[in-house]
Amino acid sequence: MIIINKANIFNEDMIKDVELVEYFNYKEDLILVERDTFSAFKMLQANLKIKGINIDIESGYRSLEKQESIFLDYYKKEKDYLNKVAMPGFSEHHLGTSIDLAVFDKGKWISNKEELLKLIEPFKIIHKEMINYGFILRYPKGKEEETGYVYMPWHLRYVGIDISLKIRDSILENI
Ligand SMILES: [Zn+2]
Repeated sequence: MIIINKANIFNEDMIKDVELVEYFNYKEDLILVERDTFSAFKMLQANLKIKGINIDIESGYRSLEKQESIFLDYYKKEKDYLNKVAMPGFSEHHLGTSIDLAVFDKGKWISNKEELLKLIEPFKIIHKEMINYGFILRYPKGKEEETGYVYMPWHLRYVGIDISLKIRDSILENI
């Protein structure tokens, strides 16, 4: 499994065999996601729907250029931008196996980070369920020093159920 963090930079070789699928999300944005990640997401989405929670993908695969424009946006607007967004080349969104969620709450889709942070109960359920479909939380609460990033409940990393089930306990401790 490939890990990208502040010490491991992305290179295009990492995704030379990765198949990205195209998907149009709730606002008809074209989203690209790695094939297995997308299948797992669809199952997680269906399962959560039964529990009354609607999720969609706000952001999936990102090119270096896309990450650069997102990074520059944070750089211009946010004080602690280095803890909130990865520099181009240092994001797992480059792998196609990370997704940022949008959550439907009180009649509208929420994708704004501050508003998402307020959805404490829905995320508790989402995080418990995601483990069964191979997702982990990449930037958990209380692990800011370790990851170098603030808590991001919306950012899920697909690692497959072999890994997610193995580390279920430590995931549950930090949600
Ligand atoms: Zn993300």
